[in-house]
Amino acid sequence: MKNRLGIILFIALLTFLACKDKTSKNSDFKSGNDKPNIILILTDDQGYGDVGFNGSKDILTPHIDNIAKKGVVFSDGYVSHPYCSPSRAGLMTGRYQQRFGHEHNVPFAPQDSTMGTPKNEVFLSKKLKEAGYKTSAIGKWHLGNYPSFLPPQRGFDHWFGFSGGNMNYWGYPSGKNKTMHIQRNGENVDHNELTYLTDDFTNEALSFIKQQKDTPFFMYLSYNAPHSPDHATKQYLEKANHIENGIRSVYAAMITGLDQGVGRIDSLLTRLGIRENTLIIFLSDNGGRLDAANNGQFRGHKGMLFEGGIRVPFTMSWPAKLPQNTRYNQPVTSLDIFSTCLAAANLKLNDSLRLDGKNLLPFLKNNLSEAPHQALFWRVANGEEYAIRKGNYKLIKSAYKNKTMLFDLSEDEMETRDISSLKPEIFNDLEKLYTNWSKDLAEPLWTDPHIQNVKKEEQDVQNTRFKSLSKKEKEDYEFNH
Ligand code: CA
Repeated sequence: MKNRLGIILFIALLTFLACKDKTSKNSDFKSGNDKPNIILILTDDQGYGDVGFNGSKDILTPHIDNIAKKGVVFSDGYVSHPYCSPSRAGLMTGRYQQRFGHEHNVPFAPQDSTMGTPKNEVFLSKKLKEAGYKTSAIGKWHLGNYPSFLPPQRGFDHWFGFSGGNMNYWGYPSGKNKTMHIQRNGENVDHNELTYLTDDFTNEALSFIKQQKDTPFFMYLSYNAPHSPDHATKQYLEKANHIENGIRSVYAAMITGLDQGVGRIDSLLTRLGIRENTLIIFLSDNGGRLDAANNGQFRGHKGMLFEGGIRVPFTMSWPAKLPQNTRYNQPVTSLDIFSTCLAAANLKLNDSLRLDGKNLLPFLKNNLSEAPHQALFWRVANGEEYAIRKGNYKLIKSAYKNKTMLFDLSEDEMETRDISSLKPEIFNDLEKLYTNWSKDLAEPLWTDPHIQNVKKEEQDVQNTRFKSLSKKEKEDYEFNH
């Protein structure tokens, strides 16, 4: 009897040890912690059609496509604003940025303590840092230049990048009085230490990942490519030789640079054995730029509320938990990234955060037919322009067209047939939804000194709009967008 008990206990002990061993082998994360690493890759002004996974044939993005193959592609993935800074404010807070007055591009004002995303707004980085993540911001920031608005004050342990909206790719000081530098953790980096910003950002990302041993990490990798100015290295330009349109060719070279960066990061994660449990999210901050991008089958471009300005290349890959090689067709928004990342990290979605975004994981894992959002909303310049998408219907008030239009995207993705007179009930329903949504919004905290220029441009025929600006105006516009 005693012997039998001993044998049973011995077998139980062996089973326990075998399971324990299996658990640690199966656990992808180095320390056995099951929280995923999270890498949020944001590109700048890249068009919907300028990734292979959305059908690009001239600009090739094999490495970004590999991320998409190992995950979910959003056919109807939106950002919350058609240009840089407000879109980024929504992304970092998971809230419509008009709720807290971040409705225009934040001007480059490094001495002004009022110009930036309000301090009482909670950033995703802060929540993940509080939960034990090591956090890194690399690349373009554009959420305020005054020190208290910079990444180190917004929940990032590590920062390498520039504070404003635009930077030459060689790292020369720029901005007003050449006061904007590439910084690492608050210290200016000498431009002689830099090569080509896209490669520098990739190298910094690789170095950060290699340093993480025992804790999960969150990296916000915000490439400024393929935003102007049009700078690319010979190596990348050669890859775009087949494109005969000069501006598009350089734009393609800039995308090639960031695609190679994504590939190097993907390879490193695989080599370290942590790719399976790393959630990688890839998207552009707004629709493709006017002069070089391909916005696929959509009307309009960056700056507009037509689909070409707000629908972006968007994919999410987490091999350990999410389906692979699939497309998800319900409308989703960059605001969902906050909630989704918190849920991925097993953190509570606290009501006090007042998030507008939804946790997408259950929708993606279970392929729920229910849409994550009843409707999505956009507002530009304190309501001079706005849009609402509910189901397949989209209402858009365009200032420069001077009218409000209704489209059925299921039949008319290009938004060419205004059906507002045919469907007055739907038109009124969407107008009412917008009115309800907008009454909770704040006044913009600052105005965009360039908004008049933008409006003036939009009144011009698309391809000639830059010609209407003086050289100085064009430089100002490019710097701030
Ligand atoms: Ca942008």
